[in-house]
Amino acid sequence: MFPPLIESLIESFAQMPGIGRKSAERIAFYVLDNMSKNDVEHMIKSISEAKEKVHFCPICQNLTDVSPCRICSSDKRDKSIICVVENPKDVTAIEKTKEFNGLYHVLHGALSPMDGISPDDLKIKELLIRLTADVNEVIMATNPTVSGTATAVYLSKLISPMGIKVTRIANGIPIGGDIEYADEITLIKALEGRQNM
Ligand code: ZN
Repeated sequence: MFPPLIESLIESFAQMPGIGRKSAERIAFYVLDNMSKNDVEHMIKSISEAKEKVHFCPICQNLTDVSPCRICSSDKRDKSIICVVENPKDVTAIEKTKEFNGLYHVLHGALSPMDGISPDDLKIKELLIRLTADVNEVIMATNPTVSGTATAVYLSKLISPMGIKVTRIANGIPIGGDIEYADEITLIKALEGRQNM
């Protein structure tokens, strides 16, 4: 349809989440037609530098450019509470509320046998080794979807026998909804109203 180099650029953009063929074409033509060579070079440099330097925090598994991340290494955070989330964006959403002062653990997904996602595919081992005597509570802040709830129940069964309190964020986030899209008030209420599992 287009010359091979343009087609290849369109296909690269079309791989991005939420970008269909039409949007990918629009972005490709914007890059070729409207962006200066400098802007393009700056963008390429940002992408490759971020890709090179951003990695998983060895403790909480969140994306970070320092090791451990700024939250894990802060002496102002309450290390007795760990809030378990599915994705890095959930950390950002909860941090925005400024209501939670504990630590996080990012699973990088949720259990979903139908999609072939088993416990080994998530950062569960990495969570379990963090559960030392200093930890009093683990908050399950996975999404209120079928897989998010199944993940919370699965983890609760592993962690409760260790004598650690396991709580689940309250309803309020629409069932099937995503934490990253919840507004701040809803998130604050969900955290405050968490209940024992
Ligand atoms: Zn961390």
